[in-house]
Amino acid sequence: MINMNNISKQFGDLVVLKDISLQVEQGKVVVIIGPSGSGKTTLLRCLNVLEQPEEGSITIDQQTLKFSEKVSKKEIREFRRQTGMVFQTYNLFPHFTAVENVMEGPITVQKVAKAKAREKAVDILTKVGLHEKMEVYPYQLSGGQQQRVGIARAMAIDPKVMLFDEPTSALDPELVGEVLQVMKKLAAEGRTMVVVTHEMSFAKEVADEVLFMDNGMIVERGEPSVLFEHPKEERTKQFLKLIK
Ligand code: ADP
Repeated sequence: MINMNNISKQFGDLVVLKDISLQVEQGKVVVIIGPSGSGKTTLLRCLNVLEQPEEGSITIDQQTLKFSEKVSKKEIREFRRQTGMVFQTYNLFPHFTAVENVMEGPITVQKVAKAKAREKAVDILTKVGLHEKMEVYPYQLSGGQQQRVGIARAMAIDPKVMLFDEPTSALDPELVGEVLQVMKKLAAEGRTMVVVTHEMSFAKEVADEVLFMDNGMIVERGEPSVLFEHPKEERTKQFLKLIK
């Protein structure tokens, strides 16, 4: 489903991603862990071309972007439709209700009629447990509820891949569980997901593969039971010791 080949990205002189390659099969969950500043968010943002790498190529399903050549805005728009992104700080429209937030993508991106978009948004919000909160505004919701709207919004355009950028790290501890629960449900449905998170229990339970990043590189990767219990690389060992 995802094929990332030799991606490099720099901001000015700072090289943030160094020759990253990553494959994700359909229906698999990949969790990315690593210290702050190691390039995890940038890697996700490259996957939906919120950041454009200088080198390499990314394929999602049938579409490939080669970054050594000029990529048009139209190609980027089409490419981006294949992914749904969930942000750390939710990024909801404050002046839209929950249901309007979820309808927005289908209406503007897919040109779906309003009534149909609403129907679908209601279904998705029900699925994330927010049937009672359809008509309220983000400020009337808890952080956990806002993030569940964020997930619903990302799902609304039927993305082939869902990307999660530290989706629980802005939440009070007691609200983390409800968001992880929704993510587990999506994983169990066989959605392809790439998740940056510090929630190691989620990684252990849900990930098919865990990648440890440091300093713009994938230092080590493997099944969670192997990577967490028997890390090979010294840097991985150090990191895991710190977060235990
Ligand atoms: P992580 O998600 O692992 O914390 P990031 O991908 O956010 O790491 O950041 C990697 C590095 O890139 C950091 O040194 C960060 O300061 C830098 N960086 C990220 N975004 C930008 C940007 N837009 N401009 C300049 N530097 C950036």
